[in-house]
Amino acid sequence: MNDLQELYQEIVMEHNWKPRNFRKIDNPTCSSHGFNPFCGDTITLYLTLENDVVADVSFEAAGCAISKAAASLMTEAVKGKTTNEAQAIFDKYHNLVTHGPDGDGDDEDLGDLVVLAGVRAFPTRIKCATLSWHALRGALAGQETVSTE
Ligand code: ZN
Repeated sequence: MNDLQELYQEIVMEHNWKPRNFRKIDNPTCSSHGFNPFCGDTITLYLTLENDVVADVSFEAAGCAISKAAASLMTEAVKGKTTNEAQAIFDKYHNLVTHGPDGDGDDEDLGDLVVLAGVRAFPTRIKCATLSWHALRGALAGQETVSTE
């Protein structure tokens, strides 16, 4: 394992240990329950929107370290963004975790989300790393439940 991978691993473990925005929002604008049957991860995502901007986002989750760390990192990445910007981040992130860095420098926009790039080597882990994002998209689309299946 090289130094970069070790650093990434540390960030994932730290977010799993102390997830950011791990709480319920009372009276959210929208929310969605996500389930990843491949790993047993569950998440409830809460969103407060103000004029199409993610004013607040939080989650409650039970599952593996990757799913919780990914959800924590996701909330930090989309807070303060418009829903379109959040969707664009998801598209880039999804590309990163399924195909790896594309080398055009785009991935810099992803910030700490790049720490999850390593999951692409483990197809079932990709579901763990994207569950929270599917829940985000589900909440925005008015779907009460989403599954990675
Ligand atoms: Zn998982």
